[in-house]
Amino acid sequence: MFEKILIANRGEIALRIQRACRELGIKTVVVHSEADREAKYVRLADESVCIGPAPSRESYLNMPAIISAAEVTDSEAIHPGYGFLSENADFADRVEKSGFVFIGPRPDTIRLMGDKVSAKRAMIEAGVPVVPGSEGALPDDPQEIIRVAREVGYPVIIKAAGGGGGRGMRVVYTEAALLNAVTMTRSEAGAAFNNPEVYMEKFLENPRHIEIQVLADGGRNAVWLGERDCSMQRRHQKVIEEAPAPGVARRLIERIGDRCADACRKMGYRGAGTFEFLYESGEFYFIEMNTRIQVEHPVTELITGIDLVQQQILIAAGEKFALRQRDVAFKGHAIECRINAEDPFRFVPSPGRITNWHTPGGPGVRIDSHAFNGYFVPPNYDSMIAKVITYGDTRDQALARMRIALSEMVVEGISTNIPLHRELLQDARFIEGGTSIHYLENKLAQRP
Ligand code: ADP
Repeated sequence: MFEKILIANRGEIALRIQRACRELGIKTVVVHSEADREAKYVRLADESVCIGPAPSRESYLNMPAIISAAEVTDSEAIHPGYGFLSENADFADRVEKSGFVFIGPRPDTIRLMGDKVSAKRAMIEAGVPVVPGSEGALPDDPQEIIRVAREVGYPVIIKAAGGGGGRGMRVVYTEAALLNAVTMTRSEAGAAFNNPEVYMEKFLENPRHIEIQVLADGGRNAVWLGERDCSMQRRHQKVIEEAPAPGVARRLIERIGDRCADACRKMGYRGAGTFEFLYESGEFYFIEMNTRIQVEHPVTELITGIDLVQQQILIAAGEKFALRQRDVAFKGHAIECRINAEDPFRFVPSPGRITNWHTPGGPGVRIDSHAFNGYFVPPNYDSMIAKVITYGDTRDQALARMRIALSEMVVEGISTNIPLHRELLQDARFIEGGTSIHYLENKLAQRP
């Protein structure tokens, strides 16, 4: 097992990884920007290294600074968390070439999955169902593009092969708008992702977002750990996640889970990963794979009792990965609300000093947060300051506990989206379960 791990991230996930390390008896090194000097997890770490000024580009995305921090502290492995460099194949490569272990998949796997055209091809080969669309990237020939769109059937969505974070996508409803949309998405993709390749998919009009968690050892052993429903989204950003997905037949989930585990074996996938699907009319359609730990991983931990971050570390350390599919049992229901420092209905970020902070507790309540009374939320990063996660024997109990938790929670000095969550937890359609990815935006559009 490792003696010391460097955590190349910030905020709640830096603290989450630190807790996993401490439980495993591993020392931690936290790297941080000047803006995060006062963070609680920085003080709790065995060692900390300032790697640059506040802007991410100069700190959390600064590969040479992170690698030299690993060198000077004698770290053995680097955990990238989510976001930042976690899905950067060049970073994983540099980490390994510098003699450290990258806690994640092999660089070539990250590269394969980072290109959505090659990821989709790999899924088709592995027998995972994908959204119908163009075979690979779209050609230059306009007549050919028109032909493909007719075959797929309108509406279609044009997506950048290198896209991410909900960017680089355009929905097309009519043939008249098609070629212009392709040209625009290409040029945006070239500028934003350094890769002008685009592909086409059928645009599913009212799907849910359901994803499958996997763990694999890079060889023959791969297991899937159930699904998460992340359909409550705004601008492709997840707001509430839950496990299991309400109202989806278990045999469908089992079938798709087995396909995902098979795909991992075929790819020699190593570590934790997530297969994201759109789900509509009883069918699953793969959209992308995330080769890292996800924000919403706690809901899976609560219904399986498996610590995903510890598993990532054990697999990276080459410890025998003993988990078998038959050992994975699902129990109860878990829900996560992402608490953001932002105006609850206008969504303007609200950084600043927290003057009063009180977190809920009690049975079935888990809080993952790096914030505290007097904490200053820096304006430089993602606005998420906490995850409130509740567990219950049933979905109704998890919902009830979430309502109580949100009613107890106090955050003053900044605005948060807690009022939005409180409203959603009273929403009849959400309580019923199974709302689509457009539900939240439609609901917000109807607000006076
Ligand atoms: P990103 O990597 O940018 O997150 P994804 O491929 O995961 O891109 O898509 C993000 C979101 O865009 C999905 O969760 C869904 O809301 C929407 N989307 C993507 N592809 C389709 C599609 N074929 N039909 C309908 N919506 C889609």
